[in-house]
Amino acid sequence: MQDLVVQRPEGLYCPSGDFYIDPWRPVPRAVITHAHSDHARVGHGHYLAAAPAEGVLRVRLGDIDLQTLPYGQAIGHHGVKVSLHPAGHVLGSAQVRLQYRAAGGGQTWVASGDYKVAPDATCAPFEPVRCDVFITESTFGLPIYRWRPDAELFGEINTWWVANVALGRASVLMCYSFGKAQRILSGVDAAIAPIVVHGAVHSLNTAYRAAGVDLPATLTVDEVSDPADFRRALVLCPPSAAGGPWAKRFGDFSVAFASGWMQLRGARRRGGYDKGFVLSDHADWPGLLGAVNATCASRVIVTHGSVPVLVRYLTEQGLQAEAFHTEYGDDPVEEQVQPQPPENGAATQGGA
Ligand SMILES: [Zn+2]
Ligand SMILES: [Zn+2]
Repeated sequence: MQDLVVQRPEGLYCPSGDFYIDPWRPVPRAVITHAHSDHARVGHGHYLAAAPAEGVLRVRLGDIDLQTLPYGQAIGHHGVKVSLHPAGHVLGSAQVRLQYRAAGGGQTWVASGDYKVAPDATCAPFEPVRCDVFITESTFGLPIYRWRPDAELFGEINTWWVANVALGRASVLMCYSFGKAQRILSGVDAAIAPIVVHGAVHSLNTAYRAAGVDLPATLTVDEVSDPADFRRALVLCPPSAAGGPWAKRFGDFSVAFASGWMQLRGARRRGGYDKGFVLSDHADWPGLLGAVNATCASRVIVTHGSVPVLVRYLTEQGLQAEAFHTEYGDDPVEEQVQPQPPENGAATQGGA
């Protein structure tokens, strides 16, 4: 039988169900894995997403024709059974499971969207879903990418912040405003000093809190009543804000950047900031391999990231592995901060 998901110029397409998954061009029906702007774009006729994604999707896309589905619940569409399963990437992120019964046997496909397998208090944990064909991302699909435990990382951030407080300067931490910022908020020690957030982070925080995610108290710059707080605060903002007039109010501050790309020494050197924290919302190399393994899929299709490396590795493991070309990675914030990838590749994605 024909493949359940194929590539089209508009995006990944399910011919049997006549819908797209995270399409990059406007289409009538789109299943959206998560609200990062390279995966969730404006202009589609109808959107289907996981229920916990509703708030963040509306912050990002406004008044769209959105249907939501609780994790694990299935709906039928032209004979294709569609269900969404936690991807552990950001609030509401989902893997898309497609099941089609046909004469002579059916098949089950899972499109991962972006995912991480490490725990994250701000979203539901990644759920391995058995399938025949697994479409996996490979943003950090090189053996050099191995994340340390979160506790160590947040400990490092706390130490940097405490040291800056002692010196009377703010700790400006540049990060992706959706997902990364909330994960940092949930991980740092909010008792150290006030936390100030940029407006872009604030609007996402509001959606997270409305969805029941517990985040510490934060202030926008307008809410800071004591100017001394500007000199000891932890400040979360997108990279564009840290270099502009918005950050002038913090005076002489220390600036750091949180991203999986910080694992690359060159990225740290080029960035012009004092510190780089390796914090990613994607699976690292062992995480990717473990996730692929857990699906029990015999065929794996690799999308955005270090595609050739992972395809070669999986082929060597005896799997049928191939690539889909996708156009994720048009998020202006991430584009701006993402260094050139190492040797292999066309690494382009949002929310690293
Ligand atoms: Zn992505
Ligand atoms: Zn993403």
